[in-house]
Amino acid sequence: MEWIPARRGRWFDAPCHLCRRDTVDPTGLCVDCLVEWRALLGRPRCISCALTLADRGEGMTCGACSARPWPFDGVVSAVDLAPSVRELVHRLKYGQDFSVLPLMQETLVDAVRGSPAFVLPDALVPMPLHPAQRRRRGFNQAWLLADGLRRALDRPILKRGVRRVRDTGSLTMQSSRDRRRALKGAFAADTELPRRVAIVDDVLTTGASARALATELRRGGAESVAVWSLARTP
Ligand SMILES: [Zn+2]
Ligand SMILES: [Zn+2]
Repeated sequence: MEWIPARRGRWFDAPCHLCRRDTVDPTGLCVDCLVEWRALLGRPRCISCALTLADRGEGMTCGACSARPWPFDGVVSAVDLAPSVRELVHRLKYGQDFSVLPLMQETLVDAVRGSPAFVLPDALVPMPLHPAQRRRRGFNQAWLLADGLRRALDRPILKRGVRRVRDTGSLTMQSSRDRRRALKGAFAADTELPRRVAIVDDVLTTGASARALATELRRGGAESVAVWSLARTP
């Protein structure tokens, strides 16, 4: 992955990522947007599906997961997919604006470290893109997010052997059954996997992709599969 980190001090002459007003904060947000951003953080979330918990405390599961937990060993999302978060994700993914990346990386690192669902994995597995998808976009945003975790947690990114072998395109408009069908056999893990891995992605929606990947990772020898995403669709 070729990516040149933003020069230090870049923020001081760049406008706010969200409202384009002047900013002096190293996050790249102006004072008002920073207050809004912070309000999105630190909400208690279900340790099984990462939805916010309205009526339960930190380290608990939601009602749905108490009955039927997601098949992962801990799920962490930093923020809900609020309009401002969607804006940053789109800026990165479709606008190739890498200046938003440090804020996204730091937000995910802080959430992972602070989560009661956090267990240090042996390796990080960025949600793979199909090679055609990767060519269209030019990079994999999940890989960029995982790179922040790699540095902060001192854990390697699994670089080879886990691939997306089917180009499913966008699944956002499909029903969950159609997603499951489209994702069957979409991933291949042909490498020896460490015992504990964490899948890293930008947005967690139904979890269908993560489930399909986790199944393949377990088949390849992983015993514990966590899922970490920057954003969670509420
Ligand atoms: Zn702003
Ligand atoms: Zn849950």
